[in-house]
Amino acid sequence: MNQKGLPEKEVLTLLSEAMKKDTSYDKVLSAMCTRPHPIAVKAHMQFIGSNMGDFGLFPGTKELEQSVIKMMGDMLGDANACGYITTGGTESNIQALRAARNMSKKRHPNVIVPASAHFSFDKISNLLGIEFRKASLDHEFKVDMDSVEALIDDNTIALVGVAGSTEFGQIDPIDKLAKLALANNLFLHVDAAFGGFVIPFLDKKYDFDFSIKGVNSITADPHKMGMSTIPSGGLLFREESCLLPLEIDTPYLTIRAQHSLTGTRSGAAVAAAYAVMMHLGMEGYRRIVKRCIKMTDRLVEGVQEFRIEPLIEPVMNIVALDIPDLENVRKKLRKKGWTTSITRAPRAMRLIIMPHLREEALEQFISDLGECLK
Ligand SMILES: *Cc1c(COP(=O)(O)O)cnc(C)c1O
Repeated sequence: MNQKGLPEKEVLTLLSEAMKKDTSYDKVLSAMCTRPHPIAVKAHMQFIGSNMGDFGLFPGTKELEQSVIKMMGDMLGDANACGYITTGGTESNIQALRAARNMSKKRHPNVIVPASAHFSFDKISNLLGIEFRKASLDHEFKVDMDSVEALIDDNTIALVGVAGSTEFGQIDPIDKLAKLALANNLFLHVDAAFGGFVIPFLDKKYDFDFSIKGVNSITADPHKMGMSTIPSGGLLFREESCLLPLEIDTPYLTIRAQHSLTGTRSGAAVAAAYAVMMHLGMEGYRRIVKRCIKMTDRLVEGVQEFRIEPLIEPVMNIVALDIPDLENVRKKLRKKGWTTSITRAPRAMRLIIMPHLREEALEQFISDLGECLK
């Protein structure tokens, strides 16, 4: 640090220069985050100093958090669900499985996750000392129920289902997982980090949330399709008792106990999620999801003209395209300014059609892809 501080103007210039190096969302097809809704940004700025780690000082923000959890619970099949606003899907997944582990008395616990599970579960394995067993997927990249059942043993404490897989946007058969979990007295966590703000707004109805008996917890991220600011994730439990195993005494705060993984915690993210959910309402999200799905369909139709097919018919606004000479094509697209990503197995081009993508940009992408395939 300099001894003497710089004038504000100079600092702002430095910031602008740094920002120029960042990628604008305009041609990003690889991200699950998007430009936050303007009202979320306003709310975020307004509550920038609010700390939910010591919410006794911020009872107003705490009320907003309770409203957000209630709205999310309502959207996800149980308006009485409890939980809190996390930093994102990773923290939500950690905390859900930490609760499950603390409630079980197993010394060498294992959890069955689909092979499609997000890499956050690898972190959890390392952090919590849980063995994660990866169940295989069927031909549509949904978890194979026979594989899940075969992996369960006396040390299994939980099953995880994914609703909106990171790579394919696929939804596991949560109802079947719930039956299996109930029959074996296991905790069931649903990772809907991405899908939580998509699936309720699709024309086709899927059972994936608390409306299914046996689902104990759900991850759903306002900072992905929830259009809110980073960092906001949501962790919901059906039963308040699931929060108890996460409780820590906080002797020198204005509150008695904390359930969050982080200590100091953004009240701005809470206000942002509240503002955008209140402003959009279910109808607003339905409109946004409808537009993303329409563009996803257009993308598939467009690439079919080049004899390119998706690995599965898209369930939501995530497409995996089977592209010959994938890395080369991606490199050429990169030169034209497009960021794409990949799926692990089988390798395919992974594209996410987020709200920031404009219709003209999509048409440009389709035509650029056609060029790059030549
Ligand atoms: C994005 C994602 C996560 C991780 O969320 P972060 O907010 O990046 O921590 C977890 N699970 C799924 C299914 C995801 O798509």
